[in-house]
Amino acid sequence: MTMQPLELLRSKEKVQEALNRWSQEGFFRLKGFGDRIRIEKIVSCSAYTIMLKTQYEERIVTRGIEPYYGGEVDDTGISPDPYSIVIAPPANFEKRDEEIRIPHTESVETCSECSGSGHTRCNFCFGSGQTTCSWCGGSGSRSQSRTVTTTNSDGTTSSSTEWYQESCSCFGGKVSCSSCMGSGQHTCSRCQGQGRIRSFDLLTVLFRFIKLEDVLDATDIPDALLGKVSGEVLIDEREERLSKSVRVSDEVDVRANTLLSKSQNIPNTRTVLHFQRLHIEQVGIYEATYCYKEYPQQRLWVYGAEGKVYAPNAPKSWGRILLVALGVSALLGVIGYLVFQSQRY
Ligand SMILES: [Zn+2]
Ligand SMILES: [Zn+2]
Ligand SMILES: [Zn+2]
Repeated sequence: MTMQPLELLRSKEKVQEALNRWSQEGFFRLKGFGDRIRIEKIVSCSAYTIMLKTQYEERIVTRGIEPYYGGEVDDTGISPDPYSIVIAPPANFEKRDEEIRIPHTESVETCSECSGSGHTRCNFCFGSGQTTCSWCGGSGSRSQSRTVTTTNSDGTTSSSTEWYQESCSCFGGKVSCSSCMGSGQHTCSRCQGQGRIRSFDLLTVLFRFIKLEDVLDATDIPDALLGKVSGEVLIDEREERLSKSVRVSDEVDVRANTLLSKSQNIPNTRTVLHFQRLHIEQVGIYEATYCYKEYPQQRLWVYGAEGKVYAPNAPKSWGRILLVALGVSALLGVIGYLVFQSQRY
């Protein structure tokens, strides 16, 4: 876009101001950057950030179980269609799970895990209630040593090591199983020892929202950076189901419609779309071509209402880099000296 002289002057000021601020924010950046460069050319352009949020609801029916402790069983009557049970839909975009026991779907059956006994065999001792003693290795006795001192006829003494068998404190090489306390079985975890299970149809409702984003931009600024700044809001619509009508410009509309198609193409028939919101912003960008000292010409960008800067090839503050390098080498020198001293003594 070509600019009028006054507009050019104003944008030049804005760019310089943004650059000066930016150079203060980084330690290695050249301070007062905006005032130290020669701006050769400024072009103003726009990027578009597109955001589409969609709220969905998905329903899943599974068979739920719980131990049966007795009592009434809801197994008579016609059960409602799980996909038509009314559940308060979200008012705004949210992630929420709801679980509903579907009426009249209960039944009681023998626990398949323990065949109704309420107990399962201990896998540690294989049901025997005993395990091999780790002290004696199952033999029931242990080798012990003692030092024996003998005195010869000539009066000299000598000592030797003597081995002997000592019976172990276990019971014939076996000890009570520590996992089942000697019982050989565990309470069945599926039925909690009841031997019977109550099962029922369980409806799980998952409220989920998905955010789709796209950026339309012709500059070198990474899309992720443009997505973080604000611009002029062109579209901010919320509908039950947004339609693909012409909104901004051909290019922007194509991008927005692609997101809409993606959001509305639901392969799972059990998923319902509740509502969606489309938000499009126009982000203002200044592209500046500049020179610094005798270095080759470079480009930089000032973008967004926040006046963010993207200057990938901007000169660094060599004074500060040198300072840090000197500091690091001095520190290494001190460490080296200390290590050398500690090894001498
Ligand atoms: Zn033992
Ligand atoms: Zn056991
Ligand atoms: Zn069981």
